Amino acid sequence: MSFVVKYDVAVVGGGVSGLLSALALCKEGKKVVLFEKEGQLGGVLRSYNVDGYRVDTGPHIITRLEHGPLKYLMDKYFEVTPIFIPHGRYFVRTKGAVRTFPWNLRDWLSFDLIPPVDRLYLVKTLFSVSYLFDSEQDLNELSVGKLVGDGISPETKRFLDCMCAFMTGGVSMDETPVARFIDAERYKSISEGYLDKLYNVLMKEGGSDQTYPKTGVQSIVDSIVTSIGGGADLKVGEEVESLDVKEKGVEISTNRGNYTAEFVVYSSFASELPKLVGNLPSGYVSSLSKIKRINSMTLWLGLKKKIFPEQGSEIWAESPPYSWVVPTSNYDPYLAPKDKQLVGFAFIFPGEFDVEKEKKKCLGMIYSTMPEIEKNVDFMHVQALVPEKAVWTVGSQFAEVKTPLKRLFLVGTDTEKRSMGVTRASYSVVKLLSALKEDKFIQ
Ligand SMILES: Cc1cc2nc3c(=O)[nH]c(=O)nc-3n(C[C@H](O)[C@H](O)[C@H](O)COP(=O)(O)OP(=O)(O)OC[C@H]3O[C@@H](n4cnc5c(N)ncnc54)[C@H](O)[C@@H]3O)c2cc1C
Repeated sequence: MSFVVKYDVAVVGGGVSGLLSALALCKEGKKVVLFEKEGQLGGVLRSYNVDGYRVDTGPHIITRLEHGPLKYLMDKYFEVTPIFIPHGRYFVRTKGAVRTFPWNLRDWLSFDLIPPVDRLYLVKTLFSVSYLFDSEQDLNELSVGKLVGDGISPETKRFLDCMCAFMTGGVSMDETPVARFIDAERYKSISEGYLDKLYNVLMKEGGSDQTYPKTGVQSIVDSIVTSIGGGADLKVGEEVESLDVKEKGVEISTNRGNYTAEFVVYSSFASELPKLVGNLPSGYVSSLSKIKRINSMTLWLGLKKKIFPEQGSEIWAESPPYSWVVPTSNYDPYLAPKDKQLVGFAFIFPGEFDVEKEKKKCLGMIYSTMPEIEKNVDFMHVQALVPEKAVWTVGSQFAEVKTPLKRLFLVGTDTEKRSMGVTRASYSVVKLLSALKEDKFIQ
């Protein structure tokens, strides 16, 4: 392959972080090329049709749409935006009981999944959280387990472990940093003062800024691609095989050709960067190798009738394997055939897992928690995917947007700690834009 095509920016990866980077940079006046090795764009943010149902790559609820990073990028760069439908409420389900999720002190006091004495104890803990908010302590190093202490019952510990598993990526409260929980409150309380924070802890219903995109998560990717229009070259089915990052520019080799760019934005696993870039310092390579990814399995069930009545999602907290359950066709009935219901059951695993074995275990848990499901299953589809490239636990390793090489930048869920998923990916792109400004690659 002898041809070389010149660009200002090469983006590696066509998931949401790569696509948002390509969109922002072409709108900032750069000549952009993006490479996606798979046959379609979107990475783990896609929707597709199976047996008359339309499933997403895992159930998704998009967070922080009030004034979070995706909202910022949409306002600044999107030509068209998806239609977002309010998420509704969160519920906690155990065998035979459904409770609304306790967001605040008032709800905690009546949350009968855990014993009354523990509720009072946790109220005390919530007060310490509102105090810790403004303290100098490094809350990435303080675990929820340590903050709560040993004085709680096994039921309460189980519920807190379940919550922590979903907030982080499958780990218990002893490995979950308090910072993970405070992050959300900080976002909501921007410049609103102490009384406001206290009000949030005491009274506020959470999740009001969360949504599901009509027609499925594919509509987010489609909106970005439409907004890019002809502004960037999107090369699908083209895998980047090496990046030669030099002082004066970057040479990119793919399975189809050779390209040069002023700088490169890499959006795949940071831990796999050394496979493409040969001249990274050894200390940096060693720190990247410590990043631990999250693993998930989603069981999509099509049901012969509507069994889940509410718009909202459920946390199944009876016992492990815990599940986050989202009836997506309650947001958009066209995701399921007429009069049927599509429900995604997501499970998180801290390490590698055997899909067939876990599927059997998870189905057993689903049928014993809600027996009417078993006789109403019309369709089943399983996905094993990586929802986030880095797990946020006490002392866990992340990469940075800036790298030791001045023409190489990273984006994605392993370069940013705040929030999770699409929101975390969007934060990383906002951070990329400030890093590029700082280094004078863009104005
Ligand atoms: C079960 C599940 C539930 C989820 N729930 C939510 C949720 O409720 N809310 C939320 O916000 N998020 C959620 N997410 C997470 C969210 O989908 C992801 O965090 C986000 O889409 C990651 O985007 P990304 O671009 O960083 O990574 P990816 O989507 O992984 O994109 C990276 C891309 O790079 C490509 N690539 C890799 N190497 C190369 C190469 N050498 N050359 C060319 N291309 C390459 C890959 O093929 C891939 O397309 C969920 C995910 C799952 C799986």
